[in-house]
Amino acid sequence: MLQPMRDLLQRAKAGRYAVGSFDVPNLETAHGVLSAAHELRSPVILAIPESFFTLTGFEPLVQAISFMANQLPIPVATLLDHGKSRDSVVRAIRAGMTSVMFDGSALPEDENTRLTREIVDIAHAVGVSVEGEIGVVGRGAVYHERPELVQQGLTDPRDALVFVEATGVDALAVAVGTIHGHYTSEPTIHYDLLDRIASATGLPLVLHGGSSTGDHRLAKSTAHGVCKVNIYTDMSTAAMKRLEDIFATGHHHEMRANDLLGEVKLAFQKTAAHYIHVFGSAGQA
Ligand SMILES: [Zn+2]
Repeated sequence: MLQPMRDLLQRAKAGRYAVGSFDVPNLETAHGVLSAAHELRSPVILAIPESFFTLTGFEPLVQAISFMANQLPIPVATLLDHGKSRDSVVRAIRAGMTSVMFDGSALPEDENTRLTREIVDIAHAVGVSVEGEIGVVGRGAVYHERPELVQQGLTDPRDALVFVEATGVDALAVAVGTIHGHYTSEPTIHYDLLDRIASATGLPLVLHGGSSTGDHRLAKSTAHGVCKVNIYTDMSTAAMKRLEDIFATGHHHEMRANDLLGEVKLAFQKTAAHYIHVFGSAGQA
């Protein structure tokens, strides 16, 4: 059943595991992730990034995944991922999402704080959870080419405390060494920094850019205050690989378009199941 993300993350914090937040661009992929969570009796977060707004019918998709979630006996939160404006957040709340992430990390800190506070006031008035972000989680090649940028973007525990007290967010996305997209060299997670942010703020922490960070690193992070890990790239890569194999072996001649959609669904499902085990949330629903 649908629940606000806050409830899922508070239980994860108490149980020292993390809930997977899986980006789903359409109904098939959402069905795949929900099937994995249902099979493994795991709480799960279905996320739709603002960058997917143009890709699909956003409101119909939220309605459909909410309907599916409410048929299942596991806790499911729906989340606007990386909302960049108040308009997007209000749109997600009106569509029926139970949680929103406001990403003001590219803004000056006081502007991020002011806007996040506004969004918390709006969302909490209707029982919707809010994830804020402080620090900068970079993207792709940055890790390899400009490691100093990753270092500069790391979340400062004192800034985190000021931000949390001023905004009232329910969960905090932190920059502790992960990046979005593919890594070009081995990532370093700053577990000591996680510990300091977790004890300063007392909030469930969120890791963005979970894909390919390494299972052992992600599993370890759940013992250091991480209660939510975002995954997209690895599910997408698994689906692309499956389609490449089908076309390379000529199997597509025996298939129709709906069969290909089914393969994409299965790739999302398998990858989500893998991470549900890694995060320790299997059997927690
Ligand atoms: Zn992210």
